[in-house]
Amino acid sequence: MSRLIIVSNRLPFTIAEKAGKPELQESSGGLVTALGSYLDSRREEPGFECLWVGWPGAFLDGPKRTEFEELARIRFSAHPVWLQSEDTDQFYHGFCNRTLWPLFHYLPSLTHYDEAQWEAYKRVNAQFGAALADLLRPDDTVWVQDYQLFLLPKLLREAMPGLSIGFFLHIPFPSFELFRLLPTDWKRELLEGMLGADLVGFHTHDYTQYFLRSVHRTLGYEHHLGNISMGERISRADTFPLGIDFMKYSNAAAIPSVLEEQASLAAKLAGQKIISSVDRLDYTKGILHRLKGYRLFLEESPEWQGKVAFILSVVPSRVEVDQYQRMKKEIDEAVGKINGEFGNPQWMPVLYQYRNLTFHSLVALYAVTDVALITPLRDGMNLVAKEFIACKPDGEGVLILSEMAGAAREMGEALIINPNHDREIAKALSQALTMPIEERIQRSQAMRERLRKQDARHWAETFEKSLHEAKTLVRRLEAKHLAAEPRKKMLKEYRLASRRLLLLDYDGTLVPFASHPKLAFPDPGLLDLLKQLSGNPRNTVFVISGRQKKPLKEWLGGCGIGLIAEHGVWMRGKESDWKLIKPLDTAWKAQLLSILEGYVDRLTGSFVEEKEFSLAWHYRNSDQELGAQRAKELIDTLIHFTANFDVQVLEGKKVIEVRCAGVNKGTAAIVCRESMHPDFTMAIGDDVTDEDLFRAMPRDVHTIRVGMKSSYAGYNVRDFVEVRGLLEELAQA
Ligand code: UDP
Repeated sequence: MSRLIIVSNRLPFTIAEKAGKPELQESSGGLVTALGSYLDSRREEPGFECLWVGWPGAFLDGPKRTEFEELARIRFSAHPVWLQSEDTDQFYHGFCNRTLWPLFHYLPSLTHYDEAQWEAYKRVNAQFGAALADLLRPDDTVWVQDYQLFLLPKLLREAMPGLSIGFFLHIPFPSFELFRLLPTDWKRELLEGMLGADLVGFHTHDYTQYFLRSVHRTLGYEHHLGNISMGERISRADTFPLGIDFMKYSNAAAIPSVLEEQASLAAKLAGQKIISSVDRLDYTKGILHRLKGYRLFLEESPEWQGKVAFILSVVPSRVEVDQYQRMKKEIDEAVGKINGEFGNPQWMPVLYQYRNLTFHSLVALYAVTDVALITPLRDGMNLVAKEFIACKPDGEGVLILSEMAGAAREMGEALIINPNHDREIAKALSQALTMPIEERIQRSQAMRERLRKQDARHWAETFEKSLHEAKTLVRRLEAKHLAAEPRKKMLKEYRLASRRLLLLDYDGTLVPFASHPKLAFPDPGLLDLLKQLSGNPRNTVFVISGRQKKPLKEWLGGCGIGLIAEHGVWMRGKESDWKLIKPLDTAWKAQLLSILEGYVDRLTGSFVEEKEFSLAWHYRNSDQELGAQRAKELIDTLIHFTANFDVQVLEGKKVIEVRCAGVNKGTAAIVCRESMHPDFTMAIGDDVTDEDLFRAMPRDVHTIRVGMKSSYAGYNVRDFVEVRGLLEELAQA
């Protein structure tokens, strides 16, 4: 049995009451339509089940609630989350619509930062989490929708770590300069919430990049080709442009009742070219900008006066919010002004309707339209643009589309305009109205082909397939997690062995990273642990580090262990003194030092650490993004300058290191093994320099990488805490 659980703020229907009994009215939103055909096809798979979880938009109590729940389950496999009315107000009208919506649509001046609303947002996300906890099974796939539920993926991950979780954002993800306006804690919690998902999806490549950048800047997590590595987990970000049910719209133009409505509209406006637009009442839709552009067009192209009609359809939305009521008034006034200024008893330049349209009326309007004028100031996608093109099988319609709509990324053949400039809108209108038919058809057919292929079903299928792939990658890493069973086996081998060698990296493996290498000194617990391990005559313990001899000796010299410094350059046995593993040349250091110092000047907070046989440029305390950029530049420069030296350039964790070639942790470990012929070897490390070690070890060595990353090591553990736990077990064995 495979189950897909879709979670969205609203359920795909609303509650109405008929003769005192609850009744369900199906909604026609973009998501419902988008998922409809996909779910229909999957329902044919044996054993597939889809549940929908969300808020029903009202509060019911007592027997009515029970009756409704029963009905929702039977008709829609839906499970309502009952939100308290004070929460819905603070959550939905508050944080969602007064903070996230305006900010993510690039309107910081309309953004409110209200602590009580943020608390309500957290409460509601937690309530969704609790409702799902009762419902979920560990092998379910959960697909969380949109900005109302940013925190939910993390809550679900904590409750059920193995769950397959996808998240899709239907609005834009803004550039970091906008996102950073949120208070620090909110920023972190919102991003961490999303990263609870295995896959996070966006409509456009830009939104995906902005998200990745915000994650890097806010949380410090880097990504490789969209795979974000968080130490103990990974999550993937990718682009999935939402499509429409193309065939439904393409075929609709031939439905008899649609044809009738279309004919009646055409007859009423005979002799006029029809411009139209459809959008929800929202300040992001650029309705006033559109009217301004149309007004300028009438003024500058008087020959069109009396020969065009602009049908402006506005769908009521968020009527409870003052902002929206004010905007409605402004639109009413702007329409009145244009009609007063340019109209006459025979001709009305703007035909304005403020109402919900039925599907038939909507497609009849699309079908009769010559030019669709779609001018959002920001829009995650904009489905109306796609529906209009789909509804014109003859390909004769012209689409004018704002470059600020996500849809513009896929509809390059439209007349793309910037909605902030009325002259661009006016010019595009003139061009559209006089465009030769061949050109209209050519542009439109190219878009139709794309919309046909990349329809709503394709969107959902691709998302689910990618979620499955992302999860497979996560599982592959998890399969290498040193879980109870292999750990037990390892301990057994350890107990039976008489000559055991433990090779332990220091930073990131035995201790966490500190802001400066000097601050990462060992705690008393670690010193005790190392002493206990080395006190056992059957054990030989080596700390094998990139650090210099001095701190290693000062910090760990009293533990009775061996030390390997500078990634395998120096070695010091339990009782012997430091010796070079092999003679090395350092003539290159003076030349490269000045290059590294140049990078210190170019990145505030970075510094050079000079070791005997290597140079390291650290940027842990610098701006994360600029640091990563400078690191790439430095590697490039170093590769150029080091062509004639026998050195190696290494990229570590927030550090670039140049060191003598031919020695590394692997070669040092081989020397150790050859000197004692152990019958049990364990090697633990956390970064690329430890990979040299893992690679050099024969198969029977127990190699462990810290952090859930791909590695040559046989096993992964999550963090240094897990390493300490393992070593404590060894010490007690
Ligand atoms: N729509 C609707 N009722 C109407 C007019 C339009 O349900 O009276 C639909 C329209 O077909 C489209 C959706 O509403 O699928 C609007 O989606 P879009 O992405 O254009 O904007 P959004 O409202 O999601 O911001």
